[in-house]
Amino acid sequence: MTWIPPALAVNPWLTHTARIADIVSECDGIATYRLCLDTSDNASAYVFEPGQFNMLYVPGVGESAISMSGDAHEPDGWIHTVRVAGNVTRSLAQLECGQTLGVRGPFGTGWPIPQLVGKNVVVVAGGLGLAPLRPLVYHLVRHRSQFQNVSLIVGARTAAGLLYPTEYANWTQAGIDVQLTVDRATAGWNGNIGVVTALLDRLKLNQIERASVVTCGPEVMMKYVGMSAMQRGIPAEQIWVSMERNMQCAAGLCGHCQLGPAFICKDGPVLRYDRLQPYLFVESL
Ligand SMILES: Cc1cc2nc3c(=O)[nH]c(=O)nc-3n(C[C@H](O)[C@H](O)[C@H](O)COP(=O)(O)OP(=O)(O)OC[C@H]3O[C@@H](n4cnc5c(N)ncnc54)[C@H](O)[C@@H]3O)c2cc1C
Repeated sequence: MTWIPPALAVNPWLTHTARIADIVSECDGIATYRLCLDTSDNASAYVFEPGQFNMLYVPGVGESAISMSGDAHEPDGWIHTVRVAGNVTRSLAQLECGQTLGVRGPFGTGWPIPQLVGKNVVVVAGGLGLAPLRPLVYHLVRHRSQFQNVSLIVGARTAAGLLYPTEYANWTQAGIDVQLTVDRATAGWNGNIGVVTALLDRLKLNQIERASVVTCGPEVMMKYVGMSAMQRGIPAEQIWVSMERNMQCAAGLCGHCQLGPAFICKDGPVLRYDRLQPYLFVESL
């Protein structure tokens, strides 16, 4: 099946009412929500590209940018994995199934799926960074034959922080080389210990010139993933990262999410490493 990016004709100011259909607790302070639009009865309402995000609005509290973390091919609602950080996400965490919130979106650039076709794809996720990457992993699984070797490196502070652990076996079975690592081993963990770049440095990569890296996680991690990948000989033009900044309007107008010449809401969140590289090395930017 060929990948056709969906049309991105959204009204950026229109907030839709969505009902929480399902809540899954992932780990301490992180839960996954399936949202169904109150007024929608058709699948086309849920079209998005892997890598895009929505603005979730908790009435009376405010809005937060939250990535899509579900399967873009499944018309069963919008799925978001949310970590409690401040006012909005704390209030969201107090909502229960059946309660409503507002949704604007989807916004932003998706993962560069057409450029990954025919390549060795290396996906590197740190902590909550697996959430925006999961729709891409679903795509790679569904269209596995379109890609060469596919590796997924997932890192977390401890094993309890590894997101979506029940899915790893399915992804492995689908032909994805899933490698896990933790910063700190806890009882029962007998896997890798250390940072994701240690696994990236050791990864067997045939035809390095045909390799592409996509990554999401803490900014410092993405910076080092980019450096490791480039040291392996992967050009910066074949590395993509998903960036976060303080998001307000999400429509490229307010400037809160500006990073260098880019507005993360509309030029990102997925950006090519060569475009970002000069800014990633400026402290506190
Ligand atoms: C494109 C995009 C996608 C995102 N996807 C997700 C997601 O899938 N799941 C998820 O849980 N979160 C995601 N975030 C982060 C989320 O938007 C912020 O954590 C948000 O500010 C939480 O809102 P709040 O009101 O609860 O906390 P706030 O009160 O806004 O913030 C709490 C604290 O976190 C700091 N902070 C806020 N935003 C950021 C940021 N972007 N980076 C670093 N520190 C920040 C603030 O300075 C403050 O100290 C995403 C952000 C962006 C820009």
